[in-house]
Amino acid sequence: MRAMSSSSFESVDCVVVGAGVVGLAVARALALAGREVIVIEAAESIGTETSSRNSEVIHAGIYYPRGSLMARTCVAGRRLLYAYCEEHGVPHRNCGKLIVATDEAESAKLAEIKGRAEANGVEGMRLLSAAEATTLEPNLKCTAALLSPATGIVDSHSYMLALQGDAEAKGAMFAFLSPLERGRVREDGIELEVGGAEPMNLRCRLMVNAAGLHAPSLARRIEGMPAERIPTPYYAKGNYFTLTGKSPFSRLIYPVPVPGGLGVHITVDLGGQAKFGPDVEWIDGIDYTVDPHRADKFYAAVRRYWPDLRDGALQPGYAGIRPKIVPQGAPAQDFTLQGPAEHGVPGLIHLFGIESPGLTASLALADLVRAMAGNA
Ligand SMILES: Cc1cc2nc3c(=O)[nH]c(=O)nc-3n(C[C@H](O)[C@H](O)[C@H](O)COP(=O)(O)OP(=O)(O)OC[C@H]3O[C@@H](n4cnc5c(N)ncnc54)[C@H](O)[C@@H]3O)c2cc1C
Repeated sequence: MRAMSSSSFESVDCVVVGAGVVGLAVARALALAGREVIVIEAAESIGTETSSRNSEVIHAGIYYPRGSLMARTCVAGRRLLYAYCEEHGVPHRNCGKLIVATDEAESAKLAEIKGRAEANGVEGMRLLSAAEATTLEPNLKCTAALLSPATGIVDSHSYMLALQGDAEAKGAMFAFLSPLERGRVREDGIELEVGGAEPMNLRCRLMVNAAGLHAPSLARRIEGMPAERIPTPYYAKGNYFTLTGKSPFSRLIYPVPVPGGLGVHITVDLGGQAKFGPDVEWIDGIDYTVDPHRADKFYAAVRRYWPDLRDGALQPGYAGIRPKIVPQGAPAQDFTLQGPAEHGVPGLIHLFGIESPGLTASLALADLVRAMAGNA
């Protein structure tokens, strides 16, 4: 680490690193709580990484282990998000989702999924016969289905713009093209060295690391942060294929989950376009290219519940990368929030492993960070 001179540090109360959906929600929550906030973002604008490379689904909170942070923040965050979208005119649709079984063994699993969802506090889950499901979605082929009426879709960019607007209205400042290079824990706060076109040195009482895929590597560049508390980053790419033409379904259609993933599902966006995915491809570094050959596996999987999918109908779309903190094959991770109680450094909060349902959970995660910040 390069030595930093302790002169010429501008003092600020809170620095949030990263203007993805989570950093924006945290900045808004802190600003609403009356704190002085500056958001520093390496890119030229908000939400250029994982927050613009996802399914834009408002998850109900169905599959996560009971009591996990994912389960709790997804259910709470979903309720907050619907209310926020209503109040702020953010385009969204509470379209619902069907989990579809295609044989008797899968049908038997639907009741188990319903039980888990209800234990997490998900409202309105309903088992449907094949006839009931095809009344809702005539293009579907299934043996039974589970309806999740709480699931929906949101225009994530409009949502992020609204969060930014709220934060700015309460005095938060944004510095774009401003990568945080390194920091150092001092007795009176954390000193930060920000690079980019207009480098600056900041001293803050609170630093929130919401750097997404880069959160672990950024934590390593904070001198004084115990290295043994920092998780190793792993990357699991999710590739999407888009369907030419209108979506055959008005709800989101998911197969019964397979071990390690949710299976190839269909989501629709607010424009009515259908996309398939994301699949799971473990990679060593950040690379968003979509290999067209991966479509081959999608056709067979999707035809189990939508036999009319035509050859050649799928086009490579885009990819997002899950910020994993456990390697392939390890038990699933939970969201990991670390504050002084976890790592011992006053005034420092990290958000690690904020993969799905981070968009849905963002307002609830921000509430947790704000509460932690009260003690940080
Ligand atoms: C394939 C896929 C599908 C998903 N689908 C859904 C879904 O349907 N519903 C749902 O709820 N969730 C979904 N998610 C999860 C959701 O997208 C993420 O949890 C969420 O976007 C994470 O937001 P973030 O702000 O933590 O990270 P990011 O959006 O990655 O933001 C991090 C920001 O930090 C900045 N940054 C990094 N390092 C520095 C630095 N040193 N200095 C300054 N800035 C820095 C980056 O430029 C970036 O802007 C999905 C995720 C993936 C990968």
